Amino acid sequence: MRGDRLLYAGIDIGSTTSKCVLLRDGEIVGSTLVDTGIGTGGPEQAFSGALAAAGVRSDEITRCVATGYGRTSWKGADETISELAAHARGSHFLLPSTRTVIDIGGQDAKVIALGPGGRMVNFAMNDKCAAGTGRFLEVMATILRVPIQSLEELAAQAQRPAPISSTCTVFAESEVISQLAAGTPISDVVAGICMSVASRVAALAKRVGIEQEVCMSGGVAQNGGVRRALERALEIPIFYAPQAQMAGALGAALYACHK
Ligand code: ADP
Repeated sequence: MRGDRLLYAGIDIGSTTSKCVLLRDGEIVGSTLVDTGIGTGGPEQAFSGALAAAGVRSDEITRCVATGYGRTSWKGADETISELAAHARGSHFLLPSTRTVIDIGGQDAKVIALGPGGRMVNFAMNDKCAAGTGRFLEVMATILRVPIQSLEELAAQAQRPAPISSTCTVFAESEVISQLAAGTPISDVVAGICMSVASRVAALAKRVGIEQEVCMSGGVAQNGGVRRALERALEIPIFYAPQAQMAGALGAALYACHK
């Protein structure tokens, strides 16, 4: 890391949220997370919000690197990198012993294998189906009429988790509605929902091959119910940094800095 007081920006324009991280001397000096929305309003807001949080101007930034699904449509970056490279780099920075990253975002899930120095060596990705992604949890939270943030607490109260057999989100939705109608407690249903996400992602992880330590990134990492269900499915501990949702933006900022 250069000790040159220069300022570097990383922006991760995801399908659901846009995140921006500003780095100076290897320290995060400003960060933001906003809904991506439609068009470039979300990324713009993430960028200006991070500048405001750090108390700096855009012309003070030495280099800005963009990543994420919307990286090519935002014109404010000097360069772009893949989400896989960004999550690998960001997660390795947050937890240097990481050898496998499980990133569950709004509309996809990725498992990334890292070499000893944190470089990506293999990956598997599901971006074709909502099952096993944050979108699945959003759909379920809407049916249950609870905020997505409460899924963790509800899952923790489960007595007898109610497994979901459907792998398709639309069929799983009907299954959840039937379980609720049959009187299954909401906590047991939520635990089953977390298990469903975990089993999809565990299958992806097994394709890549799991090396420990394993850490989660992306928004869904904040859900302890999914983290614990994944630990049970893979029979290993899963690590998680509080800044997990910012890992992609952080990785892009690190790339900007080391280039
Ligand atoms: P992307 O980069 O694809 O836009 P993110 O990594 O920012 O996605 O993650 C967004 C997803 O994380 C959304 O689907 C959101 O519902 C989910 N999410 C955020 N917080 C939580 C939480 N506490 N529990 C479960 N899911 C969450």
